Amino acid sequence: MTADQATGLPEYPVNDPALLKLSPAELRDLQSERLRAMVHHVHRNAPFWRRRLDAAGIGPAGINGVRDVARLPTCTKADLLADQERDPPFGGYTCTPPAQWLKVFTTSGTAGKPLRRVFSRRDWRLILDWVARQPPLTGPGEIVVLTTPVDAMMGATVLTDAVQRRGGLVFQAGTRPDPQKVEAIAELRPAVVAGSPSYLLHLADVAEGAGIDLSRCGVRTVFAWGEPGCAVEATSRRLLERFGAGNLVDALGMTELMPLGGNCPYSADLHLSDDFVFVECLRPDRDEPVPPGHLGELTYTNMVGDTQPLLRYRSGDLGVLSDGSACACGSVGTRIVGSIQGRADDMIWYRGANIFPSAVEAVVRGMHDLGDEYRLVRSRDADTLTVQVESRARLDGPARAALGDAAAEALRGAIRERVPVQVLDPGSLPRADGLRKARRVVDRG
Ligand SMILES: [Zn+2]
Repeated sequence: MTADQATGLPEYPVNDPALLKLSPAELRDLQSERLRAMVHHVHRNAPFWRRRLDAAGIGPAGINGVRDVARLPTCTKADLLADQERDPPFGGYTCTPPAQWLKVFTTSGTAGKPLRRVFSRRDWRLILDWVARQPPLTGPGEIVVLTTPVDAMMGATVLTDAVQRRGGLVFQAGTRPDPQKVEAIAELRPAVVAGSPSYLLHLADVAEGAGIDLSRCGVRTVFAWGEPGCAVEATSRRLLERFGAGNLVDALGMTELMPLGGNCPYSADLHLSDDFVFVECLRPDRDEPVPPGHLGELTYTNMVGDTQPLLRYRSGDLGVLSDGSACACGSVGTRIVGSIQGRADDMIWYRGANIFPSAVEAVVRGMHDLGDEYRLVRSRDADTLTVQVESRARLDGPARAALGDAAAEALRGAIRERVPVQVLDPGSLPRADGLRKARRVVDRG
């Protein structure tokens, strides 16, 4: 292993098949070695990290391996945004000089101000090498219709570069009006359509309105990201049915971090790439681990990446980590069981129970007479909660009331609380726009 001239970080192999066969002990050694190098790297090259590590009284010499990770301070998006404000435009946590950079993006800004992100050539190569070890999405000459914009968006750009590297073509339809996206799918007959689950379902509605049946357009794979959607069986079933696709690929990544993982053909669980990221599951309110098998905030430490690597980044996503047991596919690597449950900000406390939008989604999209859209409206004191949904067809008063009751009853079975359901006419709720994540929780005064 040779050290990278520019950064001092080793030149890690990504495509070595032996990496995927490491025993848990070997993997831990590899992670420990990478963590030691990473802490040295950020301490040497980034004022932000030097300040934080020094304040926590922990230097690179204090980190011998992943068992010491809890000695490192955690960080949040708010910390990074404040640092970019203080030290614009990319923040004092940036560890490489501009001459090494290749790509610049921001986060989507769904929740507040977007965070700026730069990647070096080395970072980008590692990312594309990582994608290359996943099952190929397309063969040479096959087309992907990408329904989200590429502009300064990391996920869509990785997808484009990775598909092109394998000889596939990407039709970047992200900024086109909805009907043009539908036409592109109908006319190009792509092997893959890519986008966020709710937006793809919306496009299927647009197609239906135009008399186009997207399930007959030759789509083999739906490639989705950005929502827990794919692990919600009702959503995944609707996506496969409406696009006539045989499989669904769910990608997990965060612009702040790197690609993190994705599902496998045998399970909806999200596999994490342990050589790329070390993950912990912490209590949402403090820096303490939750017991194995419990819900907590997923907190990531980059094992690779030289430009803006993060140590113990509290992602705001809640999930449950696997307990070391093997997936049906044979992998014993870390998995997020049944995908991400939701954002910590979106979890609703209601009459002593916590409710995730994804639980509501599973019920709504499991009912044939309901459309795809839904939202949870709560009063500011969180005392009352209403679920708004849409009927597939326009209904008269009694039919609407009966459907609302049936939905409330189905919800009670899923979340153990009876929440009133308001059934609206088709098209009443705001549509997902393909760029930002759909807002599922709305506060009313
Ligand atoms: Zn698996």
